[in-house]
Amino acid sequence: MDKKVVVIGGGAAGMMAGYFAAKEGASVTILEKNKMLGRKIRISGKGRCNLTNASDLETIINNIYRNGNFMYSSLYSFTNDNLIDLFESFGLKLKTERGNRVFPVSDKSIDVVKTMEKMLDSKNVRVKTSSTVKNIILEDEKVKGVVLSNGTKMMADRVIVTTGGKSYPLTGSTGDGYIMAKKCGHSITDLYPALVGLETREPISEELVGLNLRNISINLYKNGKKIYEDFGELEYRDYGIDGPIIKSASCYMDNFQKNNYKIVLDLKPALTYEKLDARILRDFEKYSNKPFEKSLKDLLPKKMIDYIVYKTGIDRKKPVHQVSKEERHILLGLIKGVEYDIKRLRPIEEAIVTEGGISVKEVNPSTMESKLVEGLYFAGEILDINGFTGGYNLQIAFSTGYLAGINSAQ
Ligand SMILES: Cc1cc2nc3c(=O)[nH]c(=O)nc-3n(C[C@H](O)[C@H](O)[C@H](O)COP(=O)(O)OP(=O)(O)OC[C@H]3O[C@@H](n4cnc5c(N)ncnc54)[C@H](O)[C@@H]3O)c2cc1C
Repeated sequence: MDKKVVVIGGGAAGMMAGYFAAKEGASVTILEKNKMLGRKIRISGKGRCNLTNASDLETIINNIYRNGNFMYSSLYSFTNDNLIDLFESFGLKLKTERGNRVFPVSDKSIDVVKTMEKMLDSKNVRVKTSSTVKNIILEDEKVKGVVLSNGTKMMADRVIVTTGGKSYPLTGSTGDGYIMAKKCGHSITDLYPALVGLETREPISEELVGLNLRNISINLYKNGKKIYEDFGELEYRDYGIDGPIIKSASCYMDNFQKNNYKIVLDLKPALTYEKLDARILRDFEKYSNKPFEKSLKDLLPKKMIDYIVYKTGIDRKKPVHQVSKEERHILLGLIKGVEYDIKRLRPIEEAIVTEGGISVKEVNPSTMESKLVEGLYFAGEILDINGFTGGYNLQIAFSTGYLAGINSAQ
C-alpha cells in the first residue's frame, strides 16, 4: 500500500521532500504554518535566490564547513546538476554567475517558489497552509502521525521534519522542530547565529554607516593567531561590519567570553607595501601644496578618507609635501591594516543560517531517517549542517530533502 507521508514545514527541504515522496508513489501532505509556501526562499539571495552552486562535489563539500562529510551520500544522490535539470524541466531558466552561483534568469526568487509549487501540483501533493504542527505521535518508538496546534490529529506512516532553523523567525522558522525532535529523544547541539554581521568594540562613525568596500581583504585573528582570510565585499553598519566576507568570517567565531577576535582589513590587497608607498608618493606629488586629506581622493572612497585621516593623527589640513616619511608609513600601515576588535555576533534572528541543530550522529546519512525512531525523517537546516554563502545552504536543503522524500516512500 502507498505510504502516507506527512511533511512538517513547506520550505526548500519540505517541498523537495514532498515532491520526491509523491513521485515515488506516496500519498503526501505538507503542513506549513505560514499562509504561503517558501517564505525564506522568497527573501533569499537578496530576492534573487542563489539556489545552488555549479562547482564540483569536492568544492561543495569543502564549502560545507559543519558536518560536510555527512553530506556525501545526499550530494551524490541528488547533485547540483540534478537540481538544475529538475528546475529547468519545470520551465525555470537558470544562469551561473561569479563564484559558480546559480540564480534564476529572471533574478526573482519568487519564480523558484512558483516552480516548486508546480512540481508539487504535478504529483498531487496536498498542501495545507496555516497549519502549525505541535507534536509528533509515537508508539513503540515508531512514528504514527502528528498533532496540529488546534488539536487535530493526522495519522501517517512517515513524518519528515523540515521546520528549518531559528534565524529570520518572521519567515516561520522559529525552532519548533527542535522541540518536537527533542521529545522524540533526539539531541540538539548548541545553536548559534552563523553567516551574520559582527559588532565592533569601536563605534562606527555616522559617515561610514552604509559604505560598501569592494575588493578588500580581511584577516581574522583568534587570541592573536590568524585563523581565516578572505577577499571581497564589506559593508559598514551602525553596529559594526557586515557583508559577504564578514558573514563567512562569522562562522569561525564562538565563545566570546573565552576568545578574543580581531578583524584586520587590507583596503588595497592588490598592492604590496612597496607598491602602495610608491603610489602614495605619486599622489603626494600630484597634490603637492594641497591639504593632506585631498591627496587621498584617488586612492580611497570619499567616506573612508575622513576616517583614515583621523586614525593617522596627521593634521588633515597639513600641506601634503610636509607629511613626513614616518607619517606616511603610519598612513600605509592603516590602509593595509584597519583593525577592529569584535565584541560579539549579531543575534540569531539576523543570521542567514542557524549553526547547530539535530545531531547528525542520530540520523542515517543515506536515508535521512532517524536512528532512534522508525519512520521519522529530517532534512534541511534543522540538521547540524552548515555551508558558507554561495548556494550551499539551499543545496543542503534540497539534497537532504530529496533523500528524505525518496526513502520515506519506500
Ligand atoms: C536573508 C536570507 C537569505 C538567504 N539566501 C540564501 C541563498 O541565496 N542561497 C542559499 O543557499 N541559502 C540562502 N539562505 C539560507 C537558506 O534560505 C536556508 O538555509 C534554507 O531556506 C533552509 O531551508 P529549510 O527548508 O530547511 O528551512 P526553511 O526554509 O526555514 O523552511 C522551514 C519551514 O517550516 C515551517 N515551519 C516551522 N515550524 C513549523 C510548524 N511547527 N508547523 C508547520 N510548519 C512549520 C516554516 O514556516 C518554514 O516555511 C538565506 C537565508 C536568509 C535568512
